[in-house]
Amino acid sequence: MSLEKNVFTLQKRIAKACKRVGRNPNEVKILAVSKYANDQAVGELSQLGIHAFGENRIQQARKRLDLFPALEWHFIGSLQTNKVKYCQGFSMIHSLDRWALANEVNQRSQQWGRRMDMLLQVNISGEASKHGLAPKDVLPFAQELQTLRFIRIRGLMGMAPYIQAEQTRPYFQLLKGIQEEMTKTLGGNFDVLSMGMSNDYEVAIEEGATLIRVGTTLFGEEG
Ligand SMILES: *Cc1c(COP(=O)(O)O)cnc(C)c1O
Repeated sequence: MSLEKNVFTLQKRIAKACKRVGRNPNEVKILAVSKYANDQAVGELSQLGIHAFGENRIQQARKRLDLFPALEWHFIGSLQTNKVKYCQGFSMIHSLDRWALANEVNQRSQQWGRRMDMLLQVNISGEASKHGLAPKDVLPFAQELQTLRFIRIRGLMGMAPYIQAEQTRPYFQLLKGIQEEMTKTLGGNFDVLSMGMSNDYEVAIEEGATLIRVGTTLFGEEG
């Protein structure tokens, strides 16, 4: 399938999912996960109206930032503290899950003279292999982070287990619930809910995702 067709199909499905629950498709941002894609495919996709891209390995992410500086880059993988120094060009980091990382990003961002947008990664599946905060730890952690002036917590990121799409619904409901609680308790504007991948983005949208992270469905299996 061509990239153009993939984009068209994705947009159509997003629109349908939104319609089912009375949402506006403009509320759902597409993050093209390019980790398995080649540079040419990234370039082509950017010509088709996709502007935001996500990478999960810092090495490749840095190369891509250099190659495509006009695009919006998000970091979605687990991030070592000693790699934060390479993150200046990112628009958003989706994988904040510990104080040391927050502190390092805060210090670097101060040097860079900007605030970094970040999402708290929540381990909604409860699988030991997955990164992220336990749901019960999210609120107290978010509260602590309020002292760090150079990071801005925009919301939450989570991954459902890899199961039948329809069965992912409770995981997304859990994340949405935490976001609502956080908004109520801390009074901030947590407007980003990063959930849904190629397998389950339609369910995630029905449950309130404002950003979906899709790789395979856009680039194909090969990239
Ligand atoms: C790879 C990856 C995705 C995209 O996965 P697809 O199934 O290819 O859509 C989304 N989020 C994260 C954190 C990933 O690592």
